[in-house]
Amino acid sequence: MRHDAAQWDEAVEALRAAPEVAIACHVNPDGDALGSLLAAALGLQKLGKKTYASWSGRSAEPLATFGFLSGVDNLLLPDDLPETETFLALDCGAADRLGDLEPLARKAQTLINVDHHPGNDDFGTINVVIPNASSTAELVADLLRDAGVEFDRDIASCLYTGIVTDTGRFSYANTRPQTLRLAANLLEYDVSAPDIARDVFESAPFGYLKLVGHILERAELVEDARFVYSWLTRADLDETGVSIEETDRLVETIRATRAVDVAALFKEQPDGRWRVSLRSKGPGIAEFARARGGGGHELAAGFTTDDRDEVIEALAEDLRNR
Ligand code: AMP
Ligand code: MN
Ligand code: MN
Repeated sequence: MRHDAAQWDEAVEALRAAPEVAIACHVNPDGDALGSLLAAALGLQKLGKKTYASWSGRSAEPLATFGFLSGVDNLLLPDDLPETETFLALDCGAADRLGDLEPLARKAQTLINVDHHPGNDDFGTINVVIPNASSTAELVADLLRDAGVEFDRDIASCLYTGIVTDTGRFSYANTRPQTLRLAANLLEYDVSAPDIARDVFESAPFGYLKLVGHILERAELVEDARFVYSWLTRADLDETGVSIEETDRLVETIRATRAVDVAALFKEQPDGRWRVSLRSKGPGIAEFARARGGGGHELAAGFTTDDRDEVIEALAEDLRNR
């Protein structure tokens, strides 16, 4: 058993025993979701298994940020995932994060839920949920190892990408000694840390700079709540040529001031609602997100709302009262 997960060995055994595995991560995947998905697919293929990997909402469009990862060419469209006895769900804090793939996952005899979100509702038949793991990629690394997979450069690059993105380049509280030990080990497989940093953090289209400009310009400080917020609209995306997939890290730009503990970025969705990204340097914000139908980690969470002003008021009030 590793990571104090009661069902760790069962998960390893199930993966070893399965001749084919369908694998999915959460909707609108981030670096950890994609890195974990691709590493799992590549690793299980090395054990001679057939794998089918996708996520709900995936289109045939090339990936905006993570197209450099190995194995992206073998990703399927979600409708093409077959029914399999074994289904591996990655980085999903709840079953509904599988989106339209949830029913297919539920049909599997063995549904393995590998995740690091606190509050995960153990929706699998086998659950490996470790909230203090830096990333799902960290868990996938150890699961693959225990299943007998020999790492190579492609697998290690996917895993490193998952870790470096979910830890904010090894800067958040989830960066543990074993996180850095694993990252160091992954570099032994000829993974290039600077290449991945460039591909992930320094490859945005030029319009991204203008978009950052809009967000910084609009930032509002709620001083007594130590809270900052800003927003981006569909018109901003049209004007700057940035796709919504490329806006994942934008919320980081407004937390850079010592005037705040909490940052919120509101992103207008095609349906006019607002997706809210919350980041904190201390006060837990997952509960606030969960109460509004979202979820996440104590210091990084998200949800969707119709009413931006209500959220700003409620969050400020919540933070003042702590
Ligand atoms: P984001 O601000 O989109 O990067 O999300 C921050 C964290 O919250 C990530 O770990 C997400 O997995 C999680 N999260 C975001 N939105 C939701 C949601 N609607 N339901 C559950 N978890 C979410
Ligand atoms: Mn994720
Ligand atoms: Mn994650």
